Amino acid sequence: MSSGSDDIVGTTPTQLFIGGTWSSSSSATTFPVDDPATGRPVAYVADATVADARSALDAACRAGSEWAATPSRYRSEILRRAFALMMERTDRLAALVTTEMGKPLGESAGEVAYAAEFLRWFAEEAVRIGGEYRTSPSGASRILTSPRPVGPCLLITPWNFPLAMLTRKIGPALAAGCTVVVKPAEQTPLSALALADLLVEAGLPAGVCNVIPTSHPEDTVSTLLDDPRLRKLSFTGSTETGRLLLRRASDHVLRTSMELGGNAPFLVLADADIDAAVSGAMVAKMRNMGESCVAANRFLVHDSVAEEFTTKLTSRMAELRMGPGTDPTSDVGPIIDTIQRDRIINLVEDARMRGAHAALGGAALDGPGFFYPPTVLVDTPGDAAINDQEIFGPVASLRSFADTGEMLAAANDTDYGLVAFLYTQSLSTALSAIDALDYGMVGINRGLVSDAAAPFGGVKNSGLGREGGREGIDEYLSLTYASIDI
Ligand code: ADP
Repeated sequence: MSSGSDDIVGTTPTQLFIGGTWSSSSSATTFPVDDPATGRPVAYVADATVADARSALDAACRAGSEWAATPSRYRSEILRRAFALMMERTDRLAALVTTEMGKPLGESAGEVAYAAEFLRWFAEEAVRIGGEYRTSPSGASRILTSPRPVGPCLLITPWNFPLAMLTRKIGPALAAGCTVVVKPAEQTPLSALALADLLVEAGLPAGVCNVIPTSHPEDTVSTLLDDPRLRKLSFTGSTETGRLLLRRASDHVLRTSMELGGNAPFLVLADADIDAAVSGAMVAKMRNMGESCVAANRFLVHDSVAEEFTTKLTSRMAELRMGPGTDPTSDVGPIIDTIQRDRIINLVEDARMRGAHAALGGAALDGPGFFYPPTVLVDTPGDAAINDQEIFGPVASLRSFADTGEMLAAANDTDYGLVAFLYTQSLSTALSAIDALDYGMVGINRGLVSDAAAPFGGVKNSGLGREGGREGIDEYLSLTYASIDI
């Protein structure tokens, strides 16, 4: 690790942030945060206990009514200042993300801008919260609706976008007037702690945002879900954990937002612009080394263009340089840890055993660090596990089809429904495909759909609710309806 990264880690808080105060864990224990490029610890972070989780919720509850009563312009300006501070500190924050998560510095800088954008967007939405005043159809009464904050929220985030997945929740929660307890992923707590520090600098009052990194999320989160004062859970992570949390959230009938797994098909139709499709595929597949729930998981390509698409994609994938994210020449950084890398190894092995062949890559590299090379699998059979499970890695798996209807049916043949990508030059084919694809989001002639101004979210096993866009703030508001006889 470079001394530059040492400085950044050295100046980032490593304690719990509760009620506006940095503190050690009540058990005085810490847990290591590893650099995935070396497998070695770069920091030790306070390990929150069940008692700390309770203290964090106490602080969020204490701050709750005063924060909810602040003028929306006041909340908006804090978010706007936090946006500006994030942008000013792009280099430092990017270095921190790269150190604990592994992605190349350029991608981390992209994440900082994307993450900051949620704060700016919700700074703008905070002042546009509004209710309605209507006359009932019978004329007998007036209908008044007024939104108010849902109350204390628990925000649980994953490691793949340690800043953006957090601001996508914190932005709307704070804009709506909610206070929060943040439980970041154990692999990447430093980014969340750095963000809390920055929010304080932006003027956020004590207790509004509390951060409790922990190496044992099950019991700390369970304690919070058992507490009737908690009113909302927003989670981004695996479908498996999401299901478990949804069950637990039913005890106190919590409001929930769930951004879960995906299995994105990337469809290349016979009339697609192949060069554009290849460029889009590189983004859809390789952004974040494929460690994204919106990463293209299955390439479904029309027979008539399969050879050209495969050759061009393989050659672009072969140009990528793999190396530590801190090296400015790296395009592809390490995988987050051995568990994730082993999952990729097993999926590729299974596909090859069933008849797929690797046009590029296909074998993990020895350490140090957890590297897996850009890989292209062709002729992946329909029964390979890689068609059903999230790869979360730099592996492009291709199948070809003789018929567009068959491709669309294969695209929908999954329990997931987050995003689908489609390349065609026909407007009517694109518009009918948007209706036919059973997905919460569709990218048409684009390999990227993420946008703070758009409602991100899936259907089926991919989740509940939307993040970003005008819809994002509704997840943190509940309506009071008053029936009025005038
Ligand atoms: P991944 O497999 O990508 O790490 P997870 O769903 O396990 O995805 O993790 C996403 C987030 O959920 C992380 O913050 C993690 O600490 C948290 N988490 C994992 N398991 C549990 C659990 N049983 N209870 C509460 N939170 C959990």
